[in-house]
Amino acid sequence: MSDCIFCKIIKGEIPSRKVYEDEHVYAFHDIRPIAKVHFMIVPKKHVDSLAHCGKDDAQMLSHIMLLAPKLAAEHGLEQGFKTGINTGRGGGQEVFHLHVHVFGNPL
Ligand code: 5GP
Ligand code: ZN
Repeated sequence: MSDCIFCKIIKGEIPSRKVYEDEHVYAFHDIRPIAKVHFMIVPKKHVDSLAHCGKDDAQMLSHIMLLAPKLAAEHGLEQGFKTGINTGRGGGQEVFHLHVHVFGNPL
């Protein structure tokens, strides 16, 4: 998706503060954090939203969810954190490239 802001971030065309990267996912700090720690984990493959995922995306989704506590702990959230996936206009989604918010305040 050439006009997708998160695809551009993944390709390095728009700068971001990287949290983690592997073959399938990229994680980076939210530009407007709602907690002391707030980053997003996104698949490198463009998918509009959770509602656009199919069976082929199950492995990618589980990979992202299992990364969340690991990356959260690495950022001082070993006592706990929140996750969020906004889906569709009705769900408050602003960027239509699937992303899982991970946020919280270290205790
Ligand atoms: P949504 O409401 O779609 O779940 O959230 C999109 C998030 O992306 C928002 O929290 C917003 O602050 C973040 N965001 C939007 N544009 C950029 C950007 O260019 N860089 C970064 N790091 N975050 C962005
Ligand atoms: Zn995209």
